[in-house]
Amino acid sequence: MKMETWNAAQIDRGVSLGLHDIGPAPALSVVIPCYNEEANLDLLVERTTAACRNAVGNDFEIVLINDGSRDRTWPVMADHAGKNRRIVAVNLSANYGHQLALSAGLQLCRGDTVMVMDADLQDPPELLPAFLAKMAEGHDVVYGQRVSRAGETAFKKATASVFYRLMQRMVDVPIPRDTGDFRVMSRRVVDHLNAMPERYRFIRGMVSLVGFSQVALPYEREARFAGESNYPLKKMIAFALDAITSFSTIPLRITTYLGLIAGAMGLVTLGWVFISWLLGMALTGWTSLAGLVLIIGSLQLMMLGIFGEYLGRMYMESKRRPLFIIDEVRAASTGIVAGSPIPEMQIMRQAING
Ligand code: UDP
Ligand code: MG
Repeated sequence: MKMETWNAAQIDRGVSLGLHDIGPAPALSVVIPCYNEEANLDLLVERTTAACRNAVGNDFEIVLINDGSRDRTWPVMADHAGKNRRIVAVNLSANYGHQLALSAGLQLCRGDTVMVMDADLQDPPELLPAFLAKMAEGHDVVYGQRVSRAGETAFKKATASVFYRLMQRMVDVPIPRDTGDFRVMSRRVVDHLNAMPERYRFIRGMVSLVGFSQVALPYEREARFAGESNYPLKKMIAFALDAITSFSTIPLRITTYLGLIAGAMGLVTLGWVFISWLLGMALTGWTSLAGLVLIIGSLQLMMLGIFGEYLGRMYMESKRRPLFIIDEVRAASTGIVAGSPIPEMQIMRQAING
């Protein structure tokens, strides 16, 4: 099997052709972002390959994206790509985060049907036939909906539940409860996703936005096979903020309401002061005054903060920086290894051409 490696410089020079040019598109792609998943990869590849074989024979590819892992994820992945014709290993130049790593995979995958799952085997690949059976009923998206979450803390479950409730209230597109990115999509849905240029990507929301017919497939979410969650509280809050700000401007409207409420409170207070003055009652109460000033001050700062969230995102979006940079792509499916065209350029071109 011939192995060649195209480095970033060659990709930049446009020497590379992209995976679309090295063979016919497979019926099925499985896209899996991986960050520090060295201990999961072997079993992941084994179980996913078996599930794909059962479902579609040999007509599939598994696209593994290494999102700047600090362990041996990339060498292990590259090794699999060298040994297994169905595996495409993509090395990103740094850690871009789950949603951007997933976006890279969606750009590169070629399948007519695309399955997205996590690398930690929390989403069992054995559900593939069930997913495909639902797709065959004529749906464009079948999303996994968790009926249980094994091995997750009460805190994670509680925060996830608050998050979904909040999202449902604020966001115009329906975001089904208890869904992750575990889902199967048709090619046209993936193409529409790829054409969305934003860098703050809340992918499950974007999939909802695309529309067509989308249905749930209930499943039991398993515990992580090895390693630990890469979503600590800090990342979860950032994720929730990205999700809300990229799908809703209701927080901005809430600031208007808060301003109105504070104004009304001020008027009532003034009226009360005036009446006390008419009745000749002495006014004590500098404490309450100081309290009011503080409350108003904090309200104003909060509103500025909310504005800032949106303004900062607009600023970052307006730079139109690449969503991710690819270091290397390894695929042995046709005996060659190809670098990809820079996917973010495709995204931008699509955006510019409307
Ligand atoms: N992931 C990634 N980049 C990151 C963090 C996570 O590609 O910066 C991947 C990770 O390898 C896994 C998926 O995203 O395949 C979900 O992450 P994780 O299992 O840590 O999240 P949880 O299941 O706890 O929500
Ligand atoms: Mg996980």
